[in-house]
Amino acid sequence: MRMAAIAFDNSYSALGSAFYTRVEPEPVSDPRLLFFNDDLAAMLGIQAGSLDIAEKAAVFSGNRIPDGAEPLAMVYSGHQFGAFNPRLGDGRAILLGEVVAGGERFDIQLKGSGRTPYSRNGDGRATVGAVLRESILSEAMANLGVPTTRSLAVVSTGDLIRREGWLPGGVITRVSRSFVRIGTFEYFASIGDHDAMKKLANYVIDRIYPDLRDAGNPYEALLAQVIERQARLIAHWMRIGFIHGVMNTDNVSIAGETIDYGPCAFMDGFDHDQVFSSIDRQGRYAYGNQPSIGQWNLVRFAETLLPLLMQGDDTRAAVAAAERLLNEFRDIYHQAWFDGMREKLGLVTQARDDARLIDDFLDLLDRDTADFTLAFRRLSSLGLEPSARDAEMKALFHRVPDLEAWLARWRQRLRDENSRDAERQQRMQRVNPLYIPRNHLVEAVIRAAEDHGDMQPFHQLGEVLQNPFEERPEWSEYARPPKPEEQVLQTYCGT
Ligand code: AMP
Ligand code: MG
Repeated sequence: MRMAAIAFDNSYSALGSAFYTRVEPEPVSDPRLLFFNDDLAAMLGIQAGSLDIAEKAAVFSGNRIPDGAEPLAMVYSGHQFGAFNPRLGDGRAILLGEVVAGGERFDIQLKGSGRTPYSRNGDGRATVGAVLRESILSEAMANLGVPTTRSLAVVSTGDLIRREGWLPGGVITRVSRSFVRIGTFEYFASIGDHDAMKKLANYVIDRIYPDLRDAGNPYEALLAQVIERQARLIAHWMRIGFIHGVMNTDNVSIAGETIDYGPCAFMDGFDHDQVFSSIDRQGRYAYGNQPSIGQWNLVRFAETLLPLLMQGDDTRAAVAAAERLLNEFRDIYHQAWFDGMREKLGLVTQARDDARLIDDFLDLLDRDTADFTLAFRRLSSLGLEPSARDAEMKALFHRVPDLEAWLARWRQRLRDENSRDAERQQRMQRVNPLYIPRNHLVEAVIRAAEDHGDMQPFHQLGEVLQNPFEERPEWSEYARPPKPEEQVLQTYCGT
């Protein structure tokens, strides 16, 4: 008998039926493999070579359940745009199972694989466009060094699904250090199942945070860890101009990964209040709101943990402990953001006015809606002495004298720490990407795939985004901001 290609080792399924519903993917008509991530497969120890292309299409569309998989849909709740929804769950995703690789455990999950008991009125499906988008964005984030779910495979189903008109269906296989979310904890809190809550917390500690087992109060330590990972994650988003778009608590990973790429986007021109998502009419999840929303979400998490934080009947002590940890979010976030921004400006030491220098640069960007990515990238190639290169930087701004005044301050600050051009430029180019998945690029790739069945642009963009920091002349088209007519102003959740 042939060895199973994926060595599943399932732990979530062992938690018991309170945590999920067993359900199999709904078959699709004509699965075709659009993308397979060989590097990720190798990292996960998947024997991809033992599957031919048709077998891959069958497995990663859900048509064939591989040996060892125990398909299930996870149950969870969530605060959506501030309002609590007690019963969400995987409405169109199915956890096939887990693999252990490099000492870590990973979930392998299909998304767009059909209805589950949590689908409510949804069809359980996703469009090819939406899953290609998720694949590009999540792989780009990974290559930018941001914690994220990954994309293992994308398959088109051969079926049309109803959206605004009929669109081709697709399935993405996502990989995560765990798909447990704040919403998973909220679910057990809302039904008052204390034992299950404890079981879940212990599971998460054993699986994701094993070092916390020996802490004096492991649940308090868990809260502290989740707060820290979220603070660092959001600081990372802010440093690269990423807007998640749907920071509902069901989309906040306990493992600290970026999850659920729906209407997310990278900013072109910098705007602190930028919103892309068509369903975010109040701007709740605007770029500049992400840190405070992150903290709001963690308060929801802390509330669910209170019963576990209590020693005896002392509610007040548990609340005080949780509040103390929640208050640390701001400091952790701010420190991570500040250190990252200083790196982006090429600063090694720390000086009293650094926060002002950073804020003033962002203000200039904001006032002129200057291209966020290119501004930092072009700054990375400037020298201590003004040169012809300055013109490229100035071309991004309208208020050039203000920029010149700022550049003079920045250069003085660099001289004060004896900065050397070549060394600093190299350092800055490693943290200031040149290539990001700009909306208009992603849109063009999706149009080629959906309208013409042409996957070449997708693969080409994927190759560029694997090397976001490395300038290549033949990739200049991928670096430029959109022309006015190419600009994508809204992204859709109608995924
Ligand atoms: P999201 O905001 O995309 O994370 O989705 C929120 C909830 O809606 C989750 O429980 C999803 O599983 C569910 N959902 C989203 N789209 C669909 C769909 N097309 N069919 C079924 N459930 C869906
Ligand atoms: Mg979600």
